[in-house]
Amino acid sequence: MKNRGKRNVAEVAERRMQSRRQLLAALGIGVGGVAAAFLLLGTGSALRMNKSAPSAVPSSGMITFDNARSTHSLRQQFLDQLVSTNQIPYCTGVVYDHDGSKIQAYFQSVGATEFIGGKASVFHNGNYDIKTPDVLNRAGQGHAVPIFVGRQPFEANSFSYMNAEDLRHIIVAHEGQHCQQHAKGLPYLSPSETLAGLQEGKIHPIFLYHIAEHDAYLHDLPRLLRGEFKASEYHINDAKQRFIQNGFNLTRASRIARPLELRLFQGVMSGVQMEPLLRDLSVPSSHYEAMKRFK
Ligand SMILES: [Zn+2]
Repeated sequence: MKNRGKRNVAEVAERRMQSRRQLLAALGIGVGGVAAAFLLLGTGSALRMNKSAPSAVPSSGMITFDNARSTHSLRQQFLDQLVSTNQIPYCTGVVYDHDGSKIQAYFQSVGATEFIGGKASVFHNGNYDIKTPDVLNRAGQGHAVPIFVGRQPFEANSFSYMNAEDLRHIIVAHEGQHCQQHAKGLPYLSPSETLAGLQEGKIHPIFLYHIAEHDAYLHDLPRLLRGEFKASEYHINDAKQRFIQNGFNLTRASRIARPLELRLFQGVMSGVQMEPLLRDLSVPSSHYEAMKRFK
């Protein structure tokens, strides 16, 4: 009987593991760039680097995206200029982090040691995209956070399609929503329930990551579709495609989700249903062809 009991426990544990693996499979993991200071949110997609070519420093004082791409010493000034007319609530500043030292110093300053879905080493050499650190044991307390910009938006092939307005949309609307999430917590579950759920294994961290992404899309995509940013057609299609894909993955994962995960899922999805601009979205097939150039 003892053996049988043990086997049952082992079987239950194995079934649980399997359902967790299925959950991750449903979410389409390996997603790149999912790393967290007990939850760090970003735009994902770590891709190969382009070599920078030297170019002249502009004499006008206005720095273009191309200037910043080719001369890294201009990037902070470019970012400051880019968001100078925007209010980003609960953001302490947009920080260019060429060697990864700034984001790592931030983690140290708030005592963040646990990362979701990755290791702190992903920030070495600044080879990351754009990250808003969401330190879960500080979430929902009104704290403002910096938005860190790594080298990839300036150097990676996956960002080479971007114009300055595309980048401004990501920083102001998408990362800006992550700042709100950190300050207020997600509206679907209280910060303390979320943290306890993670610690007790009732919420898978990667599931939470995708819920937070979906909440960010729910807020940043309507702003894009209303024309608040003069974004490129590629960027608009890319944003729609990410939203559709993430919604599909979350829906698939929700079929084997646990109760707290389901509450998060139902919360974000009812938000989506209430937003008319997010109904009947589609991406032209030509976009999928175009995407291959920026892999
Ligand atoms: Zn994000």
